Amino acid sequence: MAQIEIPDFVTVRELANIMSRSPIDVIKELMSNGIMANINQQIDFDTAAIVAEEMGFEVVQQAEIAAAEEEVEEVDRPAWRQILADEEEADLEPRPPVVTMLGHVDHGKTSLLDVLRHTNVQAGEAGGITQHIGAYQVVQSGQLITFLDTPGHEAFTAMRARGAQATDIAILVVAADDGVMPQTLEAADHARAARVPIIVALNKIDLPASNPLRVMQQLSDIGLTPQEWDGETMIIPVSAKEKLGVDDLLEAILLVGEDLAPKANPKAEPTGVVLEASKEKGRGIMVTLLVQNGTLRHGDTLLIGPHYGRIKAMFDYTGKPIKEAGPSTPIAVSGLNGIPEAGDSFRTVESEKVARKIVDEIEVEVAGLQRQRPTSLDEFFARLQEGEEKTLNLIVKADVQGSLEPIVNSLEKLSNDEVSVEILRSATGNVTESDVMLASASDAVILGFNVGADTIALAAASSEQVEIKTYNIIYHLIEDVEKALKGMLEPTYEQVVIGRAEVRQVFRIRNLGRIAGCYMRTGEGRRNAQAHVIRNKKLVYTGNVTSLKHLQENVREIKAGFEFGVRIDNFDDYQSGDFVEFFVTQKVDAA
Ligand code: GDP
Repeated sequence: MAQIEIPDFVTVRELANIMSRSPIDVIKELMSNGIMANINQQIDFDTAAIVAEEMGFEVVQQAEIAAAEEEVEEVDRPAWRQILADEEEADLEPRPPVVTMLGHVDHGKTSLLDVLRHTNVQAGEAGGITQHIGAYQVVQSGQLITFLDTPGHEAFTAMRARGAQATDIAILVVAADDGVMPQTLEAADHARAARVPIIVALNKIDLPASNPLRVMQQLSDIGLTPQEWDGETMIIPVSAKEKLGVDDLLEAILLVGEDLAPKANPKAEPTGVVLEASKEKGRGIMVTLLVQNGTLRHGDTLLIGPHYGRIKAMFDYTGKPIKEAGPSTPIAVSGLNGIPEAGDSFRTVESEKVARKIVDEIEVEVAGLQRQRPTSLDEFFARLQEGEEKTLNLIVKADVQGSLEPIVNSLEKLSNDEVSVEILRSATGNVTESDVMLASASDAVILGFNVGADTIALAAASSEQVEIKTYNIIYHLIEDVEKALKGMLEPTYEQVVIGRAEVRQVFRIRNLGRIAGCYMRTGEGRRNAQAHVIRNKKLVYTGNVTSLKHLQENVREIKAGFEFGVRIDNFDDYQSGDFVEFFVTQKVDAA
């Protein structure tokens, strides 16, 4: 008889998976024992054991493994967990799930958000929604659901990169005529990296060209196997245009929400995250917040990064003034003295005076913090030693599918009892900004094989301090990861900026090409350094300095306050207003 391990509690679906049998068989077996259960229902070990034994299995209890998995689960949903870390279980109360729409461009995210906004708003408020505040709530079967109104995985991941994960459930919108497209896959990767459950909204089923079966097959191919085919993923056919399937989608959200059972403590100090912020004519600075824990009240003093202020006015998503807002509630507030960024977290303090004092202290702290680097291959082992890290998160990009597969296979084999290698995303093509943001949000390292990174991706990698390592020999790539796991990598080098100059004029010199006439603003420039050319805050070129001139003379270095001419290897396209940033590469001490 085949032996299986069953945890203390198991859903009907999980039990079926353990036995490699259809959930229908399990439900039938339960029924013949007088138990009516649906596919997502939890049953206890004793019940599961009876069913499994009757279906021909020998059963052992899997208590420890269940406990270990719970631990993983804790790490899994870091953002809310962190917020709730100090809360007593007894103080926690259910809160509405927070939902984000992801998916390929033009598949209907915005249309679906619009339809949901207008069909299920609370009675009496339907006509009253005059303005968008970046989020709203709907009522379904007497229960609230919060929708974030910034669709797309860019916003989703940018927020995670800033340390805020507001989303509980992702709706992956896939057009039934177009099917799984590159951004569908990308969005699914981003949601999975965030450990956010995915519901697929199969949109545009009104179109004659729609082909749901084909899309379901494609979804299975990317690991989102429909429940109808014994998989885990709920796939809800909808049409934003014809307003079809909207109720089913909302019910699906409630079902997944039931499993997640999101909670918060309404009595705690209020904390949460900025969804949007802008300066509006006649209203001053308006900030949309999502309360994640506690209850925020009119008159509270908010502190958001370096900005603060007493809440002068507070509105719900319909624009109605309100006095207080509990967990999962989106609100717009005025009273802040500056514009915070989406993804910043907020808290409250006693008074504006206290806020001001904290801001002064934070500024010092932030200066120190910025030097902290997230995971790089080189320092992974050090973190492992300190017990901080047990998983090496990787994003793998390769030129062709044929090289991607052996790389991913070899990397996955490197996991051992102590450390695991987790590949958050593997795809063909150059490293993109989206990859970098995903890496930043998940502390991952990006490995490229026979691919490059575009300039925007490079600039993002530099500002987010994400490591991109590129290779053209598979063996070297695998070897580097292996060494990182064992702490044997060569020392790191880091770029240290030594000076910044502004391009004021561009000259053409015979036989030499174009020269940038610059003014040294801070630090110094050196003839033997390298330089970045930066335009509108974006990196446009990096190369060796090949010539440095002061008043026609070749010089070795140039100090702040002087004008000079510079040429950078193989670059000709200077424009006035560019910045030239001189840097040197230094070895970083391992210690
Ligand atoms: P987004 O880029 O994912 O936000 O997509 P949009 O919501 O902007 O929709 C893209 C286009 O598809 C628009 O022209 C919509 O009118 C159209 N569209 C959206 N949903 C449906 C649908 O259910 N059926 C049809 N036929 N068209 C739709």
